[in-house]
Amino acid sequence: AHETMQPRVVLFASPGMGHLIPMSELARLLASPRHNCAITIITKALTVSSSEKDKGSFLSSLPSSVTVDFLPTNHDHSINSFKVNDVFLSALNSLPDLREALRSLQSLSRVVALITDFLSVDAVAVAREFGVPFFVFFPTNLMALSFLLNVTRIDHETTTEFPDMPVIQLPGWCVAIHGTDLGESFQDRKSEAYRMSLHMAKQISKADGILSNSFCELEPALANILKEDDPSHLPVYTIGPLVRSISDQQVNMSGCLEWLDHQPSGSVLFVSFGSEGTLSSEQLVELAWGLELSRQHFLWVIRSRNGSSDTTILPEGFIERNKEVGLVVQSWVQQIEILGHISTGGFLTHCGWNSVMESIMSGVPMITWPLYAEQRINAKLLVNGIGVAFRPEVQDGGVVHRDTIAAAVKELMQGEGGRDARKKVLELKTAGGKALSEVGSSFKDFAKWKSSIVM
Ligand code: UDP
Repeated sequence: AHETMQPRVVLFASPGMGHLIPMSELARLLASPRHNCAITIITKALTVSSSEKDKGSFLSSLPSSVTVDFLPTNHDHSINSFKVNDVFLSALNSLPDLREALRSLQSLSRVVALITDFLSVDAVAVAREFGVPFFVFFPTNLMALSFLLNVTRIDHETTTEFPDMPVIQLPGWCVAIHGTDLGESFQDRKSEAYRMSLHMAKQISKADGILSNSFCELEPALANILKEDDPSHLPVYTIGPLVRSISDQQVNMSGCLEWLDHQPSGSVLFVSFGSEGTLSSEQLVELAWGLELSRQHFLWVIRSRNGSSDTTILPEGFIERNKEVGLVVQSWVQQIEILGHISTGGFLTHCGWNSVMESIMSGVPMITWPLYAEQRINAKLLVNGIGVAFRPEVQDGGVVHRDTIAAAVKELMQGEGGRDARKKVLELKTAGGKALSEVGSSFKDFAKWKSSIVM
């Protein structure tokens, strides 16, 4: 009887927005009439502060063939943290619950694949127990992926700490990086985080394949290498850009869209550091002055931290002085709507890969402000590899000075460099759209992935 049942794909996502958002887009794609799968997303309950209660509302706009199962959090305190270690441990702690969930799904339906994000890869053991093909969803680019796929080898071959390596350049990379551009886990080889990252890399190598939220035309040389038809390689499928396609009417946007409606076309710099990013007080003040000195229009989303709002740290009178040209909001916004608005002309971003993909698909060039994880790699790729962004230089003491910020903002919004970056980003937008179309590389790769599992 099972053979006649609709195939079900199970997605296991750690609760960070950067994983959950693209994985729900993957669910939407699988549920579309063309693929006609039933989907279960398994994740942990989201913990959200009251100002950000809209965070998870996109889950309720998923099609009816997508169910979302929230695993018990078991008083798991690490759930409030988005540090790689904590997310990793939290996923590990969930394995018994995942096993139960999978058992009951399998008794009711035909589970054809388990896809987890790259921090939940210990789930490979559960997939194997049930004889279900196991795939890793890698929510970022091929460059970061190829580093992970090579890190075990590098670990064997060298003893030098990554930050002490002069440059790191792997085959197919369009730009070299420094060890300091790697995420926190790679800054100290004696750390627990490093050990966990090596473990994660090892688990990834056991998967039946990897689905990356990048597309061939964005990283062509590396795509060629990673996607070679070579049985000794782990199959890599580029299926991006997966970005939010449906807007969420329920989200209260604090008047952002109405405000944008009143700004000149392409005039507004959108400033946001993703779902978790915050700046030091000193840096926040410099950024405020930088925006003011640039005399450009801006829409700035400020997160609160430790329950208190960053807006209290802003220079005195900042909001009032800039009210003609600038809006500061503290709530969760629908970023995709803001980036897609005609008035938005630039994005100062922490370079989370979802933000990058959304910016590219909205044709908006960027100023890079990487904060954590693989974001410094993303910034190098965008600035030096692809040419769709600028990076204001960090001065001694690790702070970006107000004059540097003002100059970068002016250049992006008004300068020659900004024009070039905008032209390039529009080309990529077209290429990204084409990759998803029926003749495109990502469409074909997704079909190839699908034909690799028994439906
Ligand atoms: N996002 C949003 N509203 C906000 C902040 C973030 O909709 O106020 C979305 C953003 O559009 C993106 C995701 O949250 O899809 C953040 O993912 P990203 O990879 O950019 O960064 P992360 O938060 O994982 O660091």
